[in-house]
Amino acid sequence: MPSVERYVYFFGPGRADGSAAMRDILGGKGAGLAEMANIGLPVPPGFTISAKLCIHYLEQGTFPDHLKEEAGRHLKQIEKATGKKFGDPKTPLLVSVRSGAAVSMPGMMETILNLGLNDQTVQGLIAATKNPRFAYDSYRRFVQMYGDVVFDLGKEPFEEVLDEFKKRRKAKRDIDLPADDLQALTEEFKAIIRAKTSVAFPEDPTTQLWGAIEAVFKSWRTRRAVDYRRVNGIPDDLGTAVNVVAMVYGNMGDDCGTGVAFTRDTRTGERVLNGDYLTNAQGEDVVSGARTPESIARMQRGKLAKVYAELERIATKLEKHFKDVQDIEFTFEHGKLYMLQTRRAQRTGLAAVCSAVEMADEGLISQDEAVQRIPPQDLDQLFHPMVDPKAVITVVAKGLPASPGAAIGEVVFDADEAETLAKKGKKVILVRPETSPEDFHGIVAAQAVLTARGGMTSHAAVVARGMGKTCVVGAKDIEVDPAAGRFRANGRVVKKGQVITVDGTSGRVILGAAKVVLPKIGTHYEKLMSWADARRRLRVRTNADTPADARRAREFGAEGIGLCRTEHMFFEGDRITAMREMIVATDVTGRRQALAQLLPMQRADFEGMFEAMAGFPVTIRLLDPPLHEFLPHTREEIAQLAKAMKIPPARLKRTVDSLVEANPMLGHRGCRLGISYPEITEMQARAIFEAACRVVARGKKVNVEVMVPLVATVEELVRQAEIIRRVAQEVFHHEGRAVPFLVGTMIELPRAALTADEIAREAEFFSFGTNDLTQTTFGLSRDDAGRFLPFYVEAGILPADPFQVLDQDGVGKLISMAVRLGRSTRAGLKVGICGEHGGEPSSVKFCHHAGLNYVSCSPFRVPIARLAAAQAALEEAGVINRTRATV
Ligand code: PEP
Ligand code: MG
Repeated sequence: MPSVERYVYFFGPGRADGSAAMRDILGGKGAGLAEMANIGLPVPPGFTISAKLCIHYLEQGTFPDHLKEEAGRHLKQIEKATGKKFGDPKTPLLVSVRSGAAVSMPGMMETILNLGLNDQTVQGLIAATKNPRFAYDSYRRFVQMYGDVVFDLGKEPFEEVLDEFKKRRKAKRDIDLPADDLQALTEEFKAIIRAKTSVAFPEDPTTQLWGAIEAVFKSWRTRRAVDYRRVNGIPDDLGTAVNVVAMVYGNMGDDCGTGVAFTRDTRTGERVLNGDYLTNAQGEDVVSGARTPESIARMQRGKLAKVYAELERIATKLEKHFKDVQDIEFTFEHGKLYMLQTRRAQRTGLAAVCSAVEMADEGLISQDEAVQRIPPQDLDQLFHPMVDPKAVITVVAKGLPASPGAAIGEVVFDADEAETLAKKGKKVILVRPETSPEDFHGIVAAQAVLTARGGMTSHAAVVARGMGKTCVVGAKDIEVDPAAGRFRANGRVVKKGQVITVDGTSGRVILGAAKVVLPKIGTHYEKLMSWADARRRLRVRTNADTPADARRAREFGAEGIGLCRTEHMFFEGDRITAMREMIVATDVTGRRQALAQLLPMQRADFEGMFEAMAGFPVTIRLLDPPLHEFLPHTREEIAQLAKAMKIPPARLKRTVDSLVEANPMLGHRGCRLGISYPEITEMQARAIFEAACRVVARGKKVNVEVMVPLVATVEELVRQAEIIRRVAQEVFHHEGRAVPFLVGTMIELPRAALTADEIAREAEFFSFGTNDLTQTTFGLSRDDAGRFLPFYVEAGILPADPFQVLDQDGVGKLISMAVRLGRSTRAGLKVGICGEHGGEPSSVKFCHHAGLNYVSCSPFRVPIARLAAAQAALEEAGVINRTRATV
């Protein structure tokens, strides 16, 4: 590391060495403080030590030579600005030492307040303030935090002694302890440190300072910080900056206090300053829960009205400046307000949409920026029930918000029990230390899943998200004891059968049945989506197998169906029998008989789909059943089917056994079925074209695309297309009308991608089936990967689950190549994607850049894909996402 590099940056009233643009160096907190100083807001003077030093320090264990000298010079500047002196027994300067990485990691790293106090300087503080209670309160807090953070002793040993003191005095709150007690506590805290570490608490302020700085750097590598980064995709090599800031005091009396405020409501987006504060308190009191803070609205009346007015003025200025909702920390000392932090506020999906649209309408940001700044995935929350933001609730624990929505149910601790109770019509919440594949049936049966362990990619998280089921994981305050039928959380015991609410949107676990509401999809959402639609190039279709799904998808803005899995049309009722009869038929006659039963059902469904899509393209895929999903398994199922087919069960059993495949995913599925049994393709083509003719006859438009699955070689497609086109002509001849249609193929196998130029000679469109393409490119079974893939992701072997997030380097390369090859033989070839990735934002952006015409995804994800597609277009046009640039 070059020794001439600058490591320390000053900020103080009216001026700063840094700015908001220097987030990478100063971290979010440092950049925010610098920017606030630059625009004339009241920040206490201080300096930031560059985040660039963090990793250097962690790897080398030392600081560059001139750092201490550089920091010393900046400390002098703070002394000059405050008129106080570090370590001076008469007018001691005290500082806070706080972490702050470029990306906000709330509560993950360390803070130390009141640094600089010792047995001499505390006297100076008493003399200056005439307030021994305050001085000793500050001192005991400092020793307590120092013991916790620098000596790594945790909070408990100190809290225990503090509680004893409070008990002795019958005091409810820390602030009710008198000065003598606080002085005695300080000594006790020092004794704890000495006893546990054999090292004395350092009285020398400079030693204190460097101990704290090193501890903040080290906190970058604590377990919780590392986990948080992994879950949120934050790189490990960013490092944290360290902010050393002159103390201002919220704990000097009732005209002093501290709080946190948001410039708009982060749950609803409503434009109203809101937050919490405490008088006679220091920062950590507001968040620690030791005292219950008041709403800042209360400050508007009474003694603090002036402070409130100033806070409001500053909040407006901050929003205008940063052009985004801000999360602010403030302290007021004898009525004088100081800003300690400002950063971009975390918000719900609803609030993200509302505030962005309102800010665009207010002229604060452009419509492009409004579209660009909303994380597409957040739209998901808009369509799930949520806990009423106005409801009064008791939160017993918090975990990671693994899958959104709010669900209410009785607590159960066992998957079998969840299933049994659910069958009886009970709503249950499955609570486990963690889940494993054996719990799957319990997850299916439960309203929501709650686990004490595990991250965002744990089994429970992945499975629940896949099912759109509410889920909270890693609620580490919860101790689950399945054998005893209870869990403990923060001093409460919740027993089997008790009702809780799980809020998968925020990660909260709530006692009892909270009021749940459906978010209002108001005009803000409509407006945002109209802006997005006007900007995107990619079309967005849906994967839908029923007319009802198709209609719902239209409401979400789908512009056609990109995949209708025809085999899914047979899961219901007695249809499965006809389907099974078809599969187990041992000759053409038997198969044709079964197919004749299926034809009218398919035709009726297709009519419904065409009607629902009102002229938008409808891609119907020919049968692609992994046979094992349809075969009768149990003895009863076999008996039932044998009866329907009027054959002996034993014979049927033999046929079923002969159809069992060692590897059904790579077996007799996809077009291989239609190649072996052309009568299946014939029936389906007939149903499609008859339905199309009927709908056209009713005066409606149809736009038919027939899709052949799992093609590996062009010859397969040639043969299937020949049948489809022949049947089309037969139907058109019979009906006396023709309907335009395309015949295309899925690209789901590497060989298809590699020979896409040949395939495009026959195919009029391509649709990438990235579920199978991922499976076959990785050689990774879709059905079995759940057992080990989460480990791969947790261990960093894979950046994400490739079945959720498209593997752009591998599978993506095949896609880009196939698009290029396909269009080399058929210019303007229409290309889409219909695997699960079609609704995942980063994959949608990839599809935009790869030149696809459309993406297709499940109905609920259509809005997400629309927004992601718009963002890809904006990015391409050079509209940057300011969200990342603001503090
Ligand atoms: C695919 O493979 O991506 C696809 C859409 O088909 P299925 O999931 O039905 O195999
Ligand atoms: Mg497939």
